[in-house]
Amino acid sequence: MVDKAARTAFVCQQCGRAASRWLGQCPGCGAWNALVEEAVRETRARETRTGASAATPRPLVAVTAGDTVRRSTGLGELDRVLGGGLVQGSVVLVGGDPGIGKSTLALQACGALARQGLPVLYVAGEESPEQVRLRAERLGMAEAGVGDVHVLPETATEAVIEQLERMRPAAVVVDSIQTLHTGALASAPGSVGQVRESAALLVAHAKASGVACFLIGHVTKEGALAGPRVLEHLVDTVLYFEGDSGHALRVLRAVKNRFGSTNEVAVFEMGERGLAEVPNPSATFLAERPAGAPGSTVLATLEGSRPLLVEIQALVSRSALALPRRAAIGLDVGRVALLLAVLEKRLGMPLHDQDVFLNVAGGLQVDEPAADLAVVAAVASSARGRALGEDVAVWGEVGLTGEVRAVGRADARLREAARQGFRRCVLPAGNTRGIDAPAGVTAEGVTSLDQLFDVLELR
Ligand SMILES: [Zn+2]
Repeated sequence: MVDKAARTAFVCQQCGRAASRWLGQCPGCGAWNALVEEAVRETRARETRTGASAATPRPLVAVTAGDTVRRSTGLGELDRVLGGGLVQGSVVLVGGDPGIGKSTLALQACGALARQGLPVLYVAGEESPEQVRLRAERLGMAEAGVGDVHVLPETATEAVIEQLERMRPAAVVVDSIQTLHTGALASAPGSVGQVRESAALLVAHAKASGVACFLIGHVTKEGALAGPRVLEHLVDTVLYFEGDSGHALRVLRAVKNRFGSTNEVAVFEMGERGLAEVPNPSATFLAERPAGAPGSTVLATLEGSRPLLVEIQALVSRSALALPRRAAIGLDVGRVALLLAVLEKRLGMPLHDQDVFLNVAGGLQVDEPAADLAVVAAVASSARGRALGEDVAVWGEVGLTGEVRAVGRADARLREAARQGFRRCVLPAGNTRGIDAPAGVTAEGVTSLDQLFDVLELR
């Protein structure tokens, strides 16, 4: 038995200073609670571990895409966010709130892979094999044949890797990475050091053996607590679930992907039989849109390569508070504050004594500036008590002087709006040049918020 103390060090996460024991304050930079236990490895050992020392330079032209082996998970939407399928030897972190559907998705993927005749290992750190079996039955996997899915109740990382070496599965799910612990560290399971070291061992094994690895990680509301965030740089792909457990729609977003584009999203609907793919997400996001209600606009947004129509809702009402409330769900609060200031200053819309609430229906998070014009239209529509036409879709970026700026992929947004039966699109004038609107849709370009208000009759 090697002396454990000699093989680990407490390393400051701020400045990198190492100490032999845990300290509340870093002697190097003075940061509090920044020291995390890490396993110490010889540099040479690390090189062999990742196989870096075996690599030789080769001409870029000689590198082909065929060097990565992909296979379908059997779930089309999951394949989509993964960049076209699961890459052999890749490590995918699936993060999200507890209860959002991470385990369900992982188990469904296991079933789908097993149906292709591939052996799959499900490492259950949180549930007993019986519970996993019951969940598989609820998901209808029993009738479809759970095939070659093996379940392993284990929380010791070394034991998991031992089983992986013995079984040699095509894919492994670790549910969850927070339950694993390695004997290399003395710190408690679930601590940052343990989570990171366990993940590092699994990553090394995946690279060496070619097993595709799904790590499930819980995120707290603060997004911290020994969270998956500390793993993001270790793994190949990071997928995060959005939406809340109270609603049926779930959005799975790629925030990092070494093997595909980021910001690709998959849309699922949670039902009794688990997560079902949503073939027409725009229609689903707009399904409960109220007819003729002020404060509702439809935004043609872009999620990765996919155009999506979503409803932006605004509620503007007289405030009883000295400091009126501003709240935005699914939108950047700072960006919303900026747009409200532009509305007030450039269009003389009195909002200083009004509470303003904004919401993206369906639980989607919209980050692109193209949402600006829809936010402004929704706020103005609610403030004026005037509904927009039901067949209008809006998008565009708004600048500080109230100018409307062009955004990317206007053609894709127009096509999606046409496909969903919209007849009018209000978009940046800079986007209308040289564009052919699909049949049945008119593209109305605006250069300023003044023009937007004229076109939508929001004066
Ligand atoms: Zn430090």
